Amino acid sequence: MGLNKKQIYGLIGYPVKHSFSAAMHNAAFTHLGINAEYRLFEIKPQELMYFFHKIIPLRDISGAEFSYDDLRGFNVTIPHKEMVMKFLNEKSTAVNDIKAVNTISVHNGNEFKGFNTDFSGFARHLTDMDVITDKVGIIGAGGAARAVAYALKVKKAGEIVVYDINRQKAEALADDVNSWDSGCTAYAVDTIDSLNLYDKTLLVNASPVGMKDNDPLLIPVQMLHKDLFVYDLIYAPAQTKLLMLAKDRGLRCRNGLKMLLYQGVLAFEHWLGIDAPEDIMFEALKGAMN
Ligand code: NAP
Repeated sequence: MGLNKKQIYGLIGYPVKHSFSAAMHNAAFTHLGINAEYRLFEIKPQELMYFFHKIIPLRDISGAEFSYDDLRGFNVTIPHKEMVMKFLNEKSTAVNDIKAVNTISVHNGNEFKGFNTDFSGFARHLTDMDVITDKVGIIGAGGAARAVAYALKVKKAGEIVVYDINRQKAEALADDVNSWDSGCTAYAVDTIDSLNLYDKTLLVNASPVGMKDNDPLLIPVQMLHKDLFVYDLIYAPAQTKLLMLAKDRGLRCRNGLKMLLYQGVLAFEHWLGIDAPEDIMFEALKGAMN
């Protein structure tokens, strides 16, 4: 009991079984000798309220049951990143602007504080690689794209152009970027061609297109010019058609694996208030993916 009680962390979403987060967090706990465990909790949309009010049993995907009293923090994934906002007692500034949460810390048993480490993880990876973020094209306008746009604002991007098959979502994201009042101008376009990549320094794929073998290549090959950095948020597969083509043409490019690592590292640091063992987490992540 007391000080030695195992702390529980985890992921809530629906579905969650393909997540690699448990491998990286559990490796970190083991490495640091922390009595904690990261588990995957499948919570259906209609169960979300009951989870936050601790009405349903806290059962992970293997069927093991835990006490809510031991839950110290958790990540949030599809489809709950926006819905969880209303259950939070406190939100970071980024969460208020992005309107999506991927990390929650639990205080005094039932106070929830929300963060967005998708944004800070992406920003950190861009910094690592010294990417010029002057003029950027984004494909997709969902939760990940919103985090990407916020990171670009922080990185002092000048112009963001957004394309999504759902024009309204692209417009809503562009409107939000413009409301952040950062000197970054954003607008939505109707077609990939209108992204006008010829004068862009960075293209970010924040849509799920590329995850499946038979997904089309969204970008006409002639739009991939040598000064364009191509960032695909997808990390499985490691090489999407877009990345393969960019690489073939000699462009600088990356997949989203380091973003995934950094969002986990930053979540760990929010929860425990100590430096995360990044190398250990990265090795565990790569191991789990293989
Ligand atoms: P999401 O909320 O579903 O958003 C995806 C957006 O892309 C939706 O607005 C969707 O429109 C749009 N879209 C679908 N097909 C498109 C197409 N052909 N052209 C343009 N837009 C299209 O998903 P998300 O959470 O933002 O995630 C997006 C991707 O990022 C996923 O592949 C996810 O795995 C990846 N991701 C990676 C990391 C990381 O750490 N590396 C973190 C978060 C997400 P509809 O809603 O109309 O379908």
